[in-house]
Amino acid sequence: MKSRRLWSLFAALGLAASAHASGPVLVIHAGAGVLRRDMPPARDKAIRAALTRALEAGYAELKAGKPSVDAVTASLTVLENDPLFNAGRGSVFTHDGTLEMDAAIMDGYTLRAGSVAAVSDVKNPILLARAVMEHTPHVMLVGAGAEAFAQAQGIAREKPEYFRTEERWQQLQQALKEDAAGRPHADADTARHFGTVGAVALDVYGHLAAGTSTGGMNDKMPGRVGDSPIIGAGTYANAGCAVSGTGWGEFYMRTVAAHAICSRVMQQRVPIARAAAEVINQEIPAMGGSGGAIALDDQGHIAIPFNTHGMFRGWIDGSGKPHVAIYGDEDDGTGELLPAPAPDDAASDD
Ligand code: ASP
Repeated sequence: MKSRRLWSLFAALGLAASAHASGPVLVIHAGAGVLRRDMPPARDKAIRAALTRALEAGYAELKAGKPSVDAVTASLTVLENDPLFNAGRGSVFTHDGTLEMDAAIMDGYTLRAGSVAAVSDVKNPILLARAVMEHTPHVMLVGAGAEAFAQAQGIAREKPEYFRTEERWQQLQQALKEDAAGRPHADADTARHFGTVGAVALDVYGHLAAGTSTGGMNDKMPGRVGDSPIIGAGTYANAGCAVSGTGWGEFYMRTVAAHAICSRVMQQRVPIARAAAEVINQEIPAMGGSGGAIALDDQGHIAIPFNTHGMFRGWIDGSGKPHVAIYGDEDDGTGELLPAPAPDDAASDD
């Protein structure tokens, strides 16, 4: 097992789809997990199309000279509105069949950040996180207080039917059966259908931003908050590094994963691909966790390590051309191999 993880690390180091500092750069993810090549072609196509739309929305902001936070917000709004992903519409359910969404955004230039957790009726949690960043003296608002703030800010709210998809509901039913059979839900396959969305961007001024939005993990306990809205765990940006993670959040919190990557880059001068791979492909699996991350430095270098079979991901680098990928063995279109396919025995090891 160890040697496979090492192999996976080296493969991820080789990824570093190098972008050029000549133009703005945008990287997005829409979750990592058990993504096998038996996905129906229509679904594969729909996911790639949705990722492309999100890239185009964010990149249009960057091309127009807007700041990286605008690009992150634009991409994540598109993904939150798409029921294919576990964020906004299409979020997973708690054990009690309720919805509790989390989101965060961070501006690497100003080091300002905003986040929300356990909101159940906010159409676009990323917009609320941004409003927390821009219109309050706080970093994080949760639950009823966050929803009251959404109301005060005129941020759209929706009824439960808007967010509910049959697919997510069935995932919960499956997890409940596994719970009843005595399998802890965090270990079950149903809990590993991640689908969180995230974005990192570098604007024409050389400033970075990161954002993440999620419904959390299927069958989570009501009140559970994951890593996504925790600044430094699932989301982080500073002057030289921006990260958004996706995976089993408790491990990202315990490793303070996003900040751990950025502190390697900034304090230890470790190249971003290596920094991201050390945390995602070594530290997190060594503790029993799983998932991936997108990371970007101020020179436009991209890293997308993941220790799962696949990760929904996309990027537009200095070339201005959108690329999307799903599986571990897909080529990124620049001739460099994307991150390693997950170890065959990941299912028993996650
Ligand atoms: N990290 C998220 C959480 O634990 C889930 C995910 O990324 O799929 O809430």
